[in-house]
Amino acid sequence: MNRNEQIARAVDAVYRWIEAETERTAAHHRPCGRCGRCCDFEAFDHRLYVTTAELAHFTTRSGLAIPPSAGPRCPWNVDGRCDVHPYRFAGCRVFSCTGDPQVQARITEQALQRLKHIGGQSGLPYRYVNILHAGADPREPLR
Ligand code: SF4
Ligand code: SF4
Repeated sequence: MNRNEQIARAVDAVYRWIEAETERTAAHHRPCGRCGRCCDFEAFDHRLYVTTAELAHFTTRSGLAIPPSAGPRCPWNVDGRCDVHPYRFAGCRVFSCTGDPQVQARITEQALQRLKHIGGQSGLPYRYVNILHAGADPREPLR
């Protein structure tokens, strides 16, 4: 198994953990209606930060590159829908406009520790970057 597949499998496990935690707790009071409003970052006053391990997972699983520039809306929010829903990032999985922000913050913190550990084990430099700028970073090691 190559390094990218190893990273992707480890990140898959973190995403499964996030989904179990959001079901088990008050992170989400109602299921996400997938309206896409929070993916329009500027209008919603929202940001999405991602780790290097998540970027590696995304490119491996989706076969897509991270766009060099984007904004103010997530580049995969197309006609109000997520175009990459199976590959979406930890922040997309944790956040819910109907949930408890403190519970979401706790899940995010624990997920980040796990994602940081995956990167460290795989020799990926740890970065936590705004998705709108992630593809423009010349240190991007993942293409
Ligand atoms: S979290 Fe809320 S705003 Fe975001 S897509 Fe789901 S329902 Fe819409
Ligand atoms: S990846 Fe999908 S769910 Fe996440 S911010 Fe972008 S459009 Fe929204």
